[in-house]
Amino acid sequence: MDVALYEGEILNITAEISRYSEVEKERMIDKYRKAAEKKAMLCPYCHEELRLRAGEIRDIHFAHLKGMSCQESEAYDTYHKQTKRENKKHSVIKEIIYNELKGQELIRPDLKVEYGYKEKAEEKWKHYPDIYLNKNGREFAVSVITNVHEIGDEKFVKTINKRNKYFTDKGLESIWFVEDRELADDYEHRVLHLWEAEYGLAIKTEEDYKWDELLKELREQFPGYTIPRLFGYRAHGPMNHDVRSLYYVHSIGDEITFSVYRLILDQMRSPFRAFALTKGYRMNISQALIVRDEILLSDKDQEDGNRLEFANRVLYQIEALEAADAVRRESNETRNEQQAREEYLASIAQETLEEVAEAHFTVEIDVVEYISKLKYLSLSPQESEALFYFLKLHRRELEDYGLTLLDVKKWVRYALGKINDPKIRMWLVEIEDL
Ligand SMILES: [Zn+2]
Repeated sequence: MDVALYEGEILNITAEISRYSEVEKERMIDKYRKAAEKKAMLCPYCHEELRLRAGEIRDIHFAHLKGMSCQESEAYDTYHKQTKRENKKHSVIKEIIYNELKGQELIRPDLKVEYGYKEKAEEKWKHYPDIYLNKNGREFAVSVITNVHEIGDEKFVKTINKRNKYFTDKGLESIWFVEDRELADDYEHRVLHLWEAEYGLAIKTEEDYKWDELLKELREQFPGYTIPRLFGYRAHGPMNHDVRSLYYVHSIGDEITFSVYRLILDQMRSPFRAFALTKGYRMNISQALIVRDEILLSDKDQEDGNRLEFANRVLYQIEALEAADAVRRESNETRNEQQAREEYLASIAQETLEEVAEAHFTVEIDVVEYISKLKYLSLSPQESEALFYFLKLHRRELEDYGLTLLDVKKWVRYALGKINDPKIRMWLVEIEDL
């Protein structure tokens, strides 16, 4: 292993030696070797003495005396070998996640957080997650994957699959965080371009099950339609409607944020890709990693909103298709109905999807009540947002209430003069600009 306890502190010999020039290296290695012989280097785990080895075959490392090796140092070595392919950011990201979760451990008695290799050293696992999590008996393997550009590499695909299976066999649920470097999403075409290994890194969380339910309902309601097709997604072949999520981690210095993408994996062949159910959204570390029944990894309100929007888009697309069919029937088109439908779909899917969805996104509020709340300065931030969308999308309906946009703006200006809450103000300013 590359670490030892020296004068009460952890000494990483690889990092230490790399500080010196080639000439000095030999001298420093010799210095530390002598110190080790005089029992100055201890195993950080079992506190037995270590020797320094700097042979030709293996890199410089510390080793226990013959036959004295301890389980934790062996686990450390296994883990170290496993993470060798990762880049520098890996350990930084891992430590930030570990510290965040460890902080929650203090206030949640049913939560246990530990480094994977430490937790499972005794059981001599073949693969260790970066972080082991136990929430009331439910166990999770949390791992960070960097160097995603290598991910197309066949060997790495196998490794990921092996680790997934290994953790599952051990009763753990895997959570992967993928470095964002190679994230390739194209929401306009509803596609997420993937490396092959990302199939193995797509996980199933509570929110994905909710998405499954929504898709099941929509399929039952509209049995004649293929949902990804409705969005213009060109699938390799029939898709299994199993919603999964990919979590990307973005790091700038010591700061990290996460983003989540809900998707349906396409058939596993090149080019590897998935149908994107949502656009993906960012979360800060405390949002993403808050632990309730599991690591939440999502923003519940955002997810509910995304599902509503998705369902609305499906409904709209189907209505549009049916209207187009009716027109065609009237004009006595002889073309194959299916083909015509597909062509129509392709033509609208790319250009107008965004506009169409916006027009169809329904906001139902009691506008009179909202205006009165505005007068009494009791409108909540959520209500201000809803009011904004109502005015943006359904402004014509104001007439039904005997109101005009100018009337509303008058009260908005009045409220802006009295309300300090920045969230409310943001939406009111948006309304002023309408
Ligand atoms: Zn030891």
